Order: sequence, then C-alpha cells, then structure tokens
Amino acid sequence: MSNIQFIDLKAQQDKIKKQIDERMSRVLKHGKYIMGPEVAELEERLSDFTGSRHCITVSSGTEALLISLMAIGIKPGDEVITTPFTFVATAEVIVLLGAKPVFVDIEADTCNIDTSLIEAAITERTKAIIPVSLFGQPADMDEINAIAKKHDLIVIDDAAQSFGAEYKGKKSCNLAAISCTSFFPSKPLGCYGDGGAIFTNDDDLAKACREIRVHGQSERYVHTRIGVGGRMDTLQCAIILAKMECFDEEIAARLKIGAHYNKMIDEAKIKRVRQRADRTSIFAQYTIFVEDRDFVCKKLNQQGIPTAIHYPIPINEQKAYKDMCNNKTPIAHQTAKKVLSLPMHPYLGENVQGVIVGGLKSDI
Ligand SMILES: *Cc1c(COP(=O)(O)O)cnc(C)c1O
Repeated sequence: MSNIQFIDLKAQQDKIKKQIDERMSRVLKHGKYIMGPEVAELEERLSDFTGSRHCITVSSGTEALLISLMAIGIKPGDEVITTPFTFVATAEVIVLLGAKPVFVDIEADTCNIDTSLIEAAITERTKAIIPVSLFGQPADMDEINAIAKKHDLIVIDDAAQSFGAEYKGKKSCNLAAISCTSFFPSKPLGCYGDGGAIFTNDDDLAKACREIRVHGQSERYVHTRIGVGGRMDTLQCAIILAKMECFDEEIAARLKIGAHYNKMIDEAKIKRVRQRADRTSIFAQYTIFVEDRDFVCKKLNQQGIPTAIHYPIPINEQKAYKDMCNNKTPIAHQTAKKVLSLPMHPYLGENVQGVIVGGLKSDI
C-alpha cells in the first residue's frame, strides 16, 4: 500500500513511452531546439483542441500570466482583481508590473472567486480581473465576463489547473479574452520541465503576446516593445504533442475517477469541494474539507497515503503581500485551514480509491 502515488507520472509514461521517444528523437535529429517545428505544431493542435483562434506557447504558466498582463498594458498604479486562494504566481505577476492585486473572497463550496463580490471591488484604477479555475473547475465565467464588459475591464482566466475542463460545452482556455495555462509536470497536461500557453481570439492581443514572448521584437533585432525571454523549448512542445495522443482518454478517466471519489466521499459524510452542474472539473486536485487536518494527514500518511494542502495560507495573508492588501477575505481564511488534497491522476484505480477513503474513515 505504501506505493500509492499522489500523481502517477510513471504510469502515464509507460503508456506513451514509444510516442515520447519518437517525438524526442525527431527533435534531436533536426536540432532546432528553440522555436523548432514542434512549437507551431503544438500551438495549432492546442488551438484546435480548445477552439481558441490563437495559442502562444511560453516558458511557464507564470510567464503566460506575466506576458498577458504586459500585452494589455498593465502599469504601475493599476489594480487587478483576483482571488487570494490560488498559487502565488497569479498575484505575483501583478505586483511585478507595479500594479496592485485586489483580492476578492471565494465561494465556500467551489473555492473559486465569489462573483457576487467583484463589483464592489472595482475602482477607477481597475483594469483587469484574473479568475482562477481552481482545482480544475472553471469559475463563473459568464458572470465575470458580463461584469468586465459593463466596466470595460479585461478578463484573464488563470486556467493553469483546468486545461481539458468544459464550461457550458466550451473548453477551458476559450472562456475569456485571454486564458493562461501551465504545463508544469503535475498539471493535467504536463511536460517534462516548465512550459505554458496563452490563448486568445483577439488578433492584436495574440500579436502582442508573440512579440513580448521574444523580447518585444516584431522581426529579428527590431524591438517595438518591452518583452521577456519567454519561449517554450521545442523538446517540451514535443513532449506535450506525444501526451496529446492519450489526453482525451485521460480526461474521461479523470471525470470518472472524480465522480467515483465524490460518491464515496459523500457516502462517508466527508465535506468536499463541489462542482457546478453546467461545467466539468478536470480534477487537477481532488480536495476535501476536514476540521482536524493535522490528525487526518498523519493518519493517512501512516497508511502510506500521500496528501497535499492547496493552499495553507491565502496570498493576502502571506508576509510578502499582506502590507499591500487591506481587505479581509474570511472565507479564504477559513478554507485554507481545512483543505486537504488526496491522490488524483488518470491512472488511479477504484480499488486504490477505496483504500484512500477507507483510510479517511479509519480511527487509527
Ligand atoms: C501552476 C500554477 C501557476 C503557475 O504555473 P507555472 O507553470 O508553475 O509557472 C499559476 N497559477 C495557478 C493557479 C497554478 O496552479
């Protein structure tokens, strides 16, 4: 039982080893390690997959967010509304550009931004809203897009955890003016290093992102704007292309495993993150709520069941951020104390899920 993996990348690799080897050796053969043919091939593939007109691969999910904010012209003094209950990168990029993150509290059941609180946080300095599709479930995108339209703001969806999810029949990464995802190895679609992508249907924004990705150049050594070194490696693009061959199957498996967890967790009368009926979660994390978290973690770990906490401290309570945030987010504060993520990946067997939930129910 001690070999339960939190995320089993090995099982996946065993399945697609041949495609990975073939894809990698093709890159080693042509030798175009930067902006090789796999980069454009992947961008086209992901653009087809999501239905978004443009896909711009970048060096990480963090860089995708940074480049997007640069593309819409975020500057010092601007305000960007986001959630405090996310990975730090969401807010970090706002601060890096001299802008101010304004944290809006979350819904207690989905842990996504509480859309009903957004309008009250808008000021004349507000330029954008960054919702996060936390744990793999899109936020209330229709409501958020409507608020943005009314107040002339741009929505950047932090879809780092939700690639492959759907909202009202549309794919994640095609639900906002700009969407950003991450190919960090443990994400639902991960490479073997760092990687990410930006999606948009807007030709001008796509052009801006492409230029910013390569030092703001419109053509070689002609720099029309300030940019970054933010390209995704050809080899990492090749890895994602290989993984795309089993991604639809993995999505189906994730939905099935998530539903099975839900059923067992509900039967055990344990509280959990809820999913809305009009969208799917890709279950980047399977997260429950427990009051006595230290005890539960210890109990599971003793039985060889790994756990993780997403996230123990809301961003507006972090040392580096708390001085720049004056608003309180009580739901995020409470939620951070009780979230607990269980092993989740597309190769998790029902028998292992049984062992995990059995471990939760045990008294030792
Ligand atoms: C992983 C993650 C990021 C950052 O992605 P990297 O590829 O690690 O830079 C940003 N936002 C969220 C919500 C994430 O989960």
